[in-house]
Amino acid sequence: MNMTPVTRATLPPLESYLEKIREIFSCRYLTNNGKNVQELEQALTGFLEVPHLTLCTNGTLALQLALRLLNLNGKPVVTTPFSYVATVSALLWEGCEPVFADIDPRTLCISPEAVEACLNARPDIAGVLPVHVYGNACDVTALEDICRRHGVALLYDAAHAFGCRIHDRGLLSWGDASAGSFHATKLFHTVEGGCVACRTDEAQERLSLLRAFGHIGDDFICLGINAKMSEVHAAMGLCMLPLLPELIRRRAELCAAYDALLDLPRSGLAKPAMSPDLEWNYAYYPVIFPDNKTMMRCLAALGRERIHPRRYFYPSLNTLPYVSPVSCPVSEDIVQRVACLPLWPDMGMDTVERVAAILTATL
Ligand SMILES: *Cc1c(COP(=O)(O)O)cnc(C)c1O
Repeated sequence: MNMTPVTRATLPPLESYLEKIREIFSCRYLTNNGKNVQELEQALTGFLEVPHLTLCTNGTLALQLALRLLNLNGKPVVTTPFSYVATVSALLWEGCEPVFADIDPRTLCISPEAVEACLNARPDIAGVLPVHVYGNACDVTALEDICRRHGVALLYDAAHAFGCRIHDRGLLSWGDASAGSFHATKLFHTVEGGCVACRTDEAQERLSLLRAFGHIGDDFICLGINAKMSEVHAAMGLCMLPLLPELIRRRAELCAAYDALLDLPRSGLAKPAMSPDLEWNYAYYPVIFPDNKTMMRCLAALGRERIHPRRYFYPSLNTLPYVSPVSCPVSEDIVQRVACLPLWPDMGMDTVERVAAILTATL
């Protein structure tokens, strides 16, 4: 019996990738803002409907570059406790103090009321870093209003949000900037990679400087880092992008099958409430169990069949050993009873059926 992981990386037809690699071998231009990087930046600017987009090495550095772009390094920034650890590590690596605002129990995205309470309590807060959890959109209009009124920057962690749209706009076009991840396990990938979407020409120029050591030729302008994407990584993205509409369609089919077979909410399972007006990308299939004991029983039953969902996310980031402890009761409760079920585009319908049968029998 084969092992069933929570996800498997999607690859383009090998021949399409080899064609691009052959080109790279013949021109020997391997990195430093090459042809493939520029072509992929163009294509993604259109696909994601953003004013500007800068590619970089990975999603964590994308967050770090964006924090620098918005002058948030070294300052307190409001963020969510319910995310992958990289959201907080990027903040800490840039010397920011993460100030945790609890999540909305229905959408699992940061609660705008909790954000506003933090901003009212701490006038020294310089920015807000919410996460579009599972590709579900944060309350973008409320957050924009709050941040504008308080005069603080708004940066989204959009690592899950590839291809999502809300209020007839690309989700990455909201806020002052958005950081994306193109890691192999994400919906769209370049093996490793990331991007920062921003609004103005000046911001775009600053990002290009920041990702390439902060200098142009002999002109040393600001402190930069090496966060450049290579030509072989960009080539993967160029091969993947045309496949995306079909990959999302296939994910939607599998999610609909889970919905039908899991008998929500009668089975006791629930799903996060999707933001109204969201065009979702079906990046994950999260389920919320009634309690931790039930979830552990279900995970053990699936584990016996070599099926391995992920506790995504766990732990609540406000409880990490290297942040100052604060209480976020909603997030601390949810992390005890949420998991993502196996989902990738060419996963068979039979896997959905097996997972659903084991879950409903155990519940
Ligand atoms: C994957 C992920 C990141 C980090 O992206 P990498 O490309 O792996 O560095 C950041 N935030 C969230 C929410 C993620 O899921």
